[in-house]
Amino acid sequence: MDTTNALSIDLEEWYHSELVEGRKSPFSQVEEATRPILDLLDRYQTKASFFIVGEVAEKNPRLIQLIFERGHEIGCHTFSHKLVWNLDQNLFREEMEHFHSVIEKILGKIEIKGFRAPCFSIDNRNRWALKVLLDFGYRYDASIFPLKINPLYGISGAPTRPYRISFEDVRKEDPQSPLMEFPLCPLKIGGLKIPISGGFYLRALPTFFLDWGLKRINRSQPFLVYFHPWESYEKTPRFKLPLYNRVISYYGISSALKKFEFLLSHFRFGRVDQVLALK
Ligand SMILES: [Zn+2]
Repeated sequence: MDTTNALSIDLEEWYHSELVEGRKSPFSQVEEATRPILDLLDRYQTKASFFIVGEVAEKNPRLIQLIFERGHEIGCHTFSHKLVWNLDQNLFREEMEHFHSVIEKILGKIEIKGFRAPCFSIDNRNRWALKVLLDFGYRYDASIFPLKINPLYGISGAPTRPYRISFEDVRKEDPQSPLMEFPLCPLKIGGLKIPISGGFYLRALPTFFLDWGLKRINRSQPFLVYFHPWESYEKTPRFKLPLYNRVISYYGISSALKKFEFLLSHFRFGRVDQVLALK
């Protein structure tokens, strides 16, 4: 239990998930879905990083204040959860400006160090996004999913531990780069790489396997956990989605909070900026 791992929560509504896209709704559940997570974090005296969707912050300023007051890291998950692949540089800048103005209204001027793209939507096609992050004062990105198993995202060949990310090729390390990257860290067994520490993978895998696999990763490095409040909330609306989307979206929701507590009680966690030792 010596390694401190990074814990991140993408603060968004249930309807921000790409797989239920098109069902945008004014029906907000984010606060009630997030409170049990905040209480568990307090109970285990653990701080986490919250990558926040700006439009969620705009509608739930009290929740953002609560997260900040409890000592968690405030990070950015864009303003409106548009995939960065679908934006150009100017539109991405507008998203970021909008996000920062909303957070400033709620919390005043605070330093925001970390960014996660919706659906891990940064790769070499839109690596200009890294320069935009730098212009906004970011110190790290956490948007690289270093294997290609999902039809939507993933970059095979990218590093699987924190690295200084090259602005020329996101799969390359550049010791001179001002921006750190904390990629998702898969479990490696033989030649296989299996994502285990977030989202659907975390919900679907049995607890004993997670325990074994995460300890195995911890033999050589910290790992990064990511998940969303709607993934652990019993009342998340369920739609008749195509089978694949339905399984990925809803499998394991009812036991996710228990699994989260298991992780908190068996591993040490901290904010991403602290695990990366960013001052
Ligand atoms: Zn998201």
